[in-house]
Amino acid sequence: MLIRIIDRYSQRMSRAWTPGLFEVVVLLLFGAVTNVLSAWVFVNEGVVEVPRDPPIDDRMRAWWREHAPPGYDQEPRSALVEEGVGFRRRYLFSEGVFNEVAVRTKQAVRTKQAVLAKGGWPLLSMRCELWRSWTLAGGGMVDLPPADRAAVRIPATHLPFATETQWVLPLAPIWIGFIVNSVTHASLLWVVYLVPVALKRHVRRRRGRCAACGYPVGDSATCSECGAEVGLKKLPIS
Ligand SMILES: [Zn+2]
Repeated sequence: MLIRIIDRYSQRMSRAWTPGLFEVVVLLLFGAVTNVLSAWVFVNEGVVEVPRDPPIDDRMRAWWREHAPPGYDQEPRSALVEEGVGFRRRYLFSEGVFNEVAVRTKQAVRTKQAVLAKGGWPLLSMRCELWRSWTLAGGGMVDLPPADRAAVRIPATHLPFATETQWVLPLAPIWIGFIVNSVTHASLLWVVYLVPVALKRHVRRRRGRCAACGYPVGDSATCSECGAEVGLKKLPIS
């Protein structure tokens, strides 16, 4: 049964350039998978364009109050945004001077820090939250245990092209981005899939075979094996 279905679709596939329902479902599944995987790569390995330190506004304060784990009850007093293709990390700090300059000059500041990390291309589609209590001078955690939300950490030492020893994988979907990205990736996969199909058809046609099924076609306009139109190789002179 399953083999018959697959066989029918592979027959159809070699004839049609547009995907049927079965292919659409499979492509969307693959699209969703590549969406998540690429979001994880971008979040951890994305190239940061110029970081910004925007002023703290009411929205950021409200977000902090709403999300802060026990012990993180200060207000955010400075922010830093790192972004680039496929990702954005917004840092909020409980200390006012904790901006990009402070990070570079390693000022001895203790701070509570919240990171809202998002990844995905073309839209941001996965997110997570990381809460930390730490000091730049010591480089280590202080005061409070860290809290990860919707995030998994994995050692990345054996991942190809990983520059960090540990990757943070955001697990919470941002639905609009998730859907748009899955459809986009599925479309790209379809284009990639069509290239070998087009090559196969081209080779068959050059060898005088039916482009759809590979059966030798001689001079007839339709394939005697599968009924596909093969097109005349020589136009009749009139
Ligand atoms: Zn044929």
